[in-house]
Amino acid sequence: MTGADTKAAKPRPGTIGGVVGAPVAARADALVERAVTGPDAESVTMTAPFTGLRTAVLPQISDESTRAAFARARRAQPSWAATSVAHRQRVLRRLHELVLSRQKEGLDLIQVEAGKARLDAFDEISATALVADYYGRHSARLLAPRRAPGALPVLTRATHTRQPRGVVGVISPWNYPLALTAMDVLPALAAGNTVVQKPDNQTALSALWLHELAGEAGLPRDAWQIVLGRGSVIGDAIVDESDYLCFTGSTPTGKRLATAVAGRLTGYSLELGGKNPMIVLQDADVVKAAAGAVSACFASAGQLCVSVERIYVHESVRRRFLAEFARRANALVMGGSLDYHADMGSLTTPEQLRAVSAHVDDARAHGATVVAGGNPRPDVGPLFYEPTILTDVPPTAAAFADETFGPVVSVYGFTDVEDAIARANETAYGLNASVWSRDTRRARHVATRLKAGTVNVNEGYAATFGTVAVPMGGMKESGVGRRNGPEGLLKYTESQSIAVQKGIRLRPPRAIPGAVWTAALTAGLRLLRRLPGR
Ligand code: NAP
Repeated sequence: MTGADTKAAKPRPGTIGGVVGAPVAARADALVERAVTGPDAESVTMTAPFTGLRTAVLPQISDESTRAAFARARRAQPSWAATSVAHRQRVLRRLHELVLSRQKEGLDLIQVEAGKARLDAFDEISATALVADYYGRHSARLLAPRRAPGALPVLTRATHTRQPRGVVGVISPWNYPLALTAMDVLPALAAGNTVVQKPDNQTALSALWLHELAGEAGLPRDAWQIVLGRGSVIGDAIVDESDYLCFTGSTPTGKRLATAVAGRLTGYSLELGGKNPMIVLQDADVVKAAAGAVSACFASAGQLCVSVERIYVHESVRRRFLAEFARRANALVMGGSLDYHADMGSLTTPEQLRAVSAHVDDARAHGATVVAGGNPRPDVGPLFYEPTILTDVPPTAAAFADETFGPVVSVYGFTDVEDAIARANETAYGLNASVWSRDTRRARHVATRLKAGTVNVNEGYAATFGTVAVPMGGMKESGVGRRNGPEGLLKYTESQSIAVQKGIRLRPPRAIPGAVWTAALTAGLRLLRRLPGR
């Protein structure tokens, strides 16, 4: 097979042209009004990946206006924190319903801004609804003060409480503009913080749409402020003013921001890049694994932090897997229409198209074989690139170890599972991994050996991504901290311990000699060990 064969898939050109821009253009101006502005704001015109047509004109505010937004958020924080957690949960539950009932508009916006297929856009709607529901139901329990055994039974009454941090700064990328906004902003609000968020300009409307729905659900306007501008202009203000920074984006930017935040000794979480491996064991259902690989590698055109870019297949099933995987990749329909016709959408920015093309061309130049895809598709739209499968990728090729962040995957064979595990772990990253086997016990065991924050068995990424009750995030250079689950909420709080001492003090009164006191305490400490419930 060669790259030329992928053209046999004959993707139906999407409905591109004025049609795609129309529903968004009508809403864009009203949504943009929700962003923070300032007397010195400049503007930037954004375009739709499917068409190159204008989507919105966005204000680009200054450092000073960004600091003013933080000041407003800081003023709003005490009254928001003073509301009950039950009240904040109700706001989130109303938001859950609004996101589902108004999904058509959200789907259009995400598709037009990010260029993804509608089914991929729906993943964002469902993830947003799941997160709103989870924190809308569990925040009160997770934030409730907890009694703990005190130093002296009965006499020391200890409680562990959680306080909001204050104003949380959230910086978001363009690839999952709605879901990542929800996953990072909603728990911060649930914990009683206010938020200043900088979404990426490319996909600002999706964040502004959720902001509008949150307002309808009962969130005070100053509790969540959306600031728009380049990180190089307003990034310092966000780092300086945040009481906690939640960043999602590339590893190099994450490292720079972590260095800046360290000087302030405020907390931060970083959700960064990945080079995620998938292991197909000898006993895997090969057809299911190949179907799973298609969504694991090509959902959102591979512009997904948890998508699979390396596949290790047992030699005994490698040829069969590769043939089935290539057949399915070649059959994917690419297109840019606002319906469920297309399987795969476009890349989001011209920089992404350049980066993906460069990785594939470089792999070819280093001797890699293109099994499927391998070409840009300007006939479908300006930023489309075929789903691409490579083999024989040598370590000298950039695609071997560097994140492509596009619809490109390299397939390798293995004979010994220990070797597959070692090669899967041989990366600077540790975000997501996938294991395929009919023996789920064995697959779970392999999962525990992988250095990745999430591992999916007989799935690529969706099982953990959709389970918002468990944390998601990266080991090694894929990040610090986690989103989702209890950790995704509690990271936005400061832990406070309060202990009330009654009766005797924990230091001896002057009248009792130290030796007598410590002997009594030693006996007491031995006794304490035997007390149940400590
Ligand atoms: P990026 O270049 O690091 O940018 C991410 C965000 O940070 C953008 O909004 C960007 O805005 C902003 N930014 C850049 N420099 C900044 C600065 N000095 N101060 C403040 N903000 C700054 O990443 P990207 O290319 O947009 O996103 C793709 C990357 O994100 C991939 O590596 C992907 O794996 C990763 N990602 C990770 C996760 C996860 O959960 N682990 C999820 C999604 C994406 P400007 O460009 O306007 O400055």
